[in-house]
Amino acid sequence: MRYSQMLIPTTKETPAEAEVVSHQLLLRAGFIRKLTSGLYTYLPIGLMAMQKVENIVRQEMNRAGAQELLMPMVQPADLWQESGRWKNYGPELLRFKDRHDRDYCLGPTHEEVITDIARRELHSYRQLPINLYQIQTKFRDEIRPRFGLMRGREFVMKDAYSFDVSDEAAGESYKKMHEAYTRIFKRCGLEFRPVEADSGTIGGSFSHEFMVLADTGEDTLVICRECDYAANVEKAKVVLPKKGEQADQELLECIKVATPGMKKVDRVAEFLGVTPEEVIKTMIYLADGEPVAVLVRGDREVQSVKLKNLLNVTEVELADDDTVWKLTKLPVGYIGPVGIPIKLVADQEVMQMVNAVAGAGEKGHHLTGVNPDRDFTPVITSDLRQITVEDSCPLCNGSLELTEGIEVGHIFKLGTNYSEAMDATFQDKEGCQQPLVMGCYGIGVSRVVAAAIEQNHDPNGIIFPLPLAPFQVIVLNLGLKNEETTAAAEKMYLDLQAAGLDVLYDDRDERPGSKFKDADLLGIPYRVTVGKTWEKEGRVELCLRRSGETSTIDYDQASAEVAAMIQAELRSTENIG
Ligand code: ATP
Ligand code: MG
Repeated sequence: MRYSQMLIPTTKETPAEAEVVSHQLLLRAGFIRKLTSGLYTYLPIGLMAMQKVENIVRQEMNRAGAQELLMPMVQPADLWQESGRWKNYGPELLRFKDRHDRDYCLGPTHEEVITDIARRELHSYRQLPINLYQIQTKFRDEIRPRFGLMRGREFVMKDAYSFDVSDEAAGESYKKMHEAYTRIFKRCGLEFRPVEADSGTIGGSFSHEFMVLADTGEDTLVICRECDYAANVEKAKVVLPKKGEQADQELLECIKVATPGMKKVDRVAEFLGVTPEEVIKTMIYLADGEPVAVLVRGDREVQSVKLKNLLNVTEVELADDDTVWKLTKLPVGYIGPVGIPIKLVADQEVMQMVNAVAGAGEKGHHLTGVNPDRDFTPVITSDLRQITVEDSCPLCNGSLELTEGIEVGHIFKLGTNYSEAMDATFQDKEGCQQPLVMGCYGIGVSRVVAAAIEQNHDPNGIIFPLPLAPFQVIVLNLGLKNEETTAAAEKMYLDLQAAGLDVLYDDRDERPGSKFKDADLLGIPYRVTVGKTWEKEGRVELCLRRSGETSTIDYDQASAEVAAMIQAELRSTENIG
């Protein structure tokens, strides 16, 4: 492509609205433009980058035996009523009516539509296993669209659905997808980690997320330093240590003490001469609108996804001060478990505490000598808190580390949730009707582009991994006024293109400085400059974007040499494992 004819509106300034580097660079490099909150246009070069991801995904899905189809984005409400999700999905599902007053939604995911296909078209065990996928625009009315392509409302997803005769066979399909995803993200040149994950609103029993490791990730992962264990903190199980020596302490009397103005755990602890570990923190949550009081140790945080799963609701949120006031007639900070008239649930660890401090349920007061079971009894006790690096690995007891990740893929074992709800059955070998056993598998194609940039950039711009680069090589013509230089640069462009490469030819009438700047900003892995060195010595300059390494090559050999380098690098990414 000729740069002079392409729409690549690069800018120097960092846009104020962009918080994370991928969002900033996607805007600055002219890849995307915002239409309105969470909605973006992919400009030509942005679309090219996304298509690189799509192609890798498509190749690997096909290699794994999946078949591509394309389902409608608009879905009728009846299907969602059948699955039960019309009620349960919540406000992320954008609903609307057609001219006949019928209810519809924009597809945030396609379990319902594919299960409808399956119940119509899959009748016999002979047709199984089968895996069907599509690459398509999804809509989710996200509560906080942000970070550009990372969390849009409209985004491009690859979603796949497998159908099997049994749980065991579905396990095989799941394994195949796990392998395909590993190949996909390796081929994209990303540093990633599959982790155990929560199943969320999709439902199902078992799932893994594929996480690109990057500081700006919205997810926190816990990784064992000693074994293979890795999990999203939403899922990571806290191992409850054996009761310590405090278990043998004599139980003290529960006494009310004045703690004027002291609402925070740390202040209360200091004032009463105890540590935060000896304080019970009482938090009021709204679980699908219903109040719940949640107890954790003073130095711990509630893990809201664990809470949501425990309560079997679709949404939990921390109640604000006004709501807390309405419910308890107390300011936040003095609420406590003793005698509280709200449903009480406790983290498992709280039940081991002895002679603890807790809010008294009276303004300006706390209780000392609080003992679980004697002074309060939660309706449920479970693992509810966020894991920390002080905890130990649930598999091997090894030490843990925490790191941030961007979820680029998610695979689920769905079992028969959808097929039973929607009556999607097949005839087994014995002639009996059985529910299809399902799995579903998503990749955030547009998010992969953002994640790749989060992981690969420097102060000058994007550094694309070669397999995702919209252009693999850029040819700079720095002698536009010189006919011979221009002819040499043009030929270089055409030769590289003839070698099968994606080439951007910078034929713009711009100063060398801004050409170099743009080439860096766009993140094109290889840069070939035809300019003064060619005019003097018949050599061109080759510069590698990632290392900044520069060398000169004899003009006559340059196109063949550069093409060979690029092809070798691409082959090495394709021949993985
Ligand atoms: P998240 O926890 O980030 O909201 P999710 O669990 O809702 O993700 P899935 O339903 O598993 O996501 O969707 C499959 C994939 O689609 C995700 O792994 C992610 O890569 C991508 N994805 C989900 N929501 C968005 C979004 N709002 N913008 C861009 N990509 C998204
Ligand atoms: Mg989501």
